[in-house]
Amino acid sequence: MSAAPVTGRFAPTPSGRLHLGNLLCALLAYLSARRAGGRFLLRIEDLDAPRCPRSLAKAAMEDLAFLGIRWDEPPLYQSERAQIYQRYAETLTQMGLTYPCFCSRAQLHAAFAPNRGDALPVYAGACAHLTAEEIALRARVRRPALRLRVSDETLTVQDGCQGAYSANLASDCGDFIIRRSDGLCAYHLAVVVDDALSGVTQVVRGRDILPSTPQQIYLQRLLRFPTPEYAHIPLLEDPEGRRLAKRDGDLGLSSLSRRFSRDAILGMLAFSVGLLEENRPCDMDALIAGFDWARVRREDARLPSEIFAGA
Ligand code: GLU
Repeated sequence: MSAAPVTGRFAPTPSGRLHLGNLLCALLAYLSARRAGGRFLLRIEDLDAPRCPRSLAKAAMEDLAFLGIRWDEPPLYQSERAQIYQRYAETLTQMGLTYPCFCSRAQLHAAFAPNRGDALPVYAGACAHLTAEEIALRARVRRPALRLRVSDETLTVQDGCQGAYSANLASDCGDFIIRRSDGLCAYHLAVVVDDALSGVTQVVRGRDILPSTPQQIYLQRLLRFPTPEYAHIPLLEDPEGRRLAKRDGDLGLSSLSRRFSRDAILGMLAFSVGLLEENRPCDMDALIAGFDWARVRREDARLPSEIFAGA
């Protein structure tokens, strides 16, 4: 990653307790920013506020603090920023790039065009060319979502961990939603706006988000925001090779910290992605001093089995 002033961030969605994969992400984002002498921010992605109670955001902050991860400004809460996102949705609308979409979930499932492998579903465009009368008629019975028209061009993410990743939004994704029918801003627009307004230069997050990063780059271009550097990191698996998920939240710090020291947990996380050659306790300062993206492996990583014993 580059030598320009760095601002990194961690942006959890606190709809459950953080699991070790989330903590690995926070750790790598933190190490990368601090190794570069940069700032580090925390953003609580609680757009869907009822699913993300403040108690879980607080628990996430306690977990980060336990690991020694510190943020330089008060955290942003997406649930408090609806008006900001709305302004940018209006900008895109004034540019003539959006249209109301009345498709129900069931219609979308039925109408998804076939697509490659496990790529994102492609929107087939049912609402892309409605007349003003059709829109008025449908708006009487249903609140529309707002969709953004995409362009037929290939966008490439130069990813610091996974290498180059390209997608053509027209064929790989189709027009996508920037405001849901319930009025909530969609994730991609919120992330792009927040990263840009906070001056984030470095985005470190799980590699499951890499396939939708071209959508975010497209939004950055339209809104004339700079594109940050990206590193999409490996996902963590249990010893049987199953990916960790929210259900593994009990494999979180509240139980692990009863069995392992902070440095032992940091060491296990660092070891799991190749930053340490052996599984041994290591403190944060040593991890920062030794951090190098070239050593972070790109393949998904298995956690040491001792983590699971007695969990
Ligand atoms: N909030 C997302 C998550 O918890 C991460 C989004 C991002 O880092 O851009 O998976």
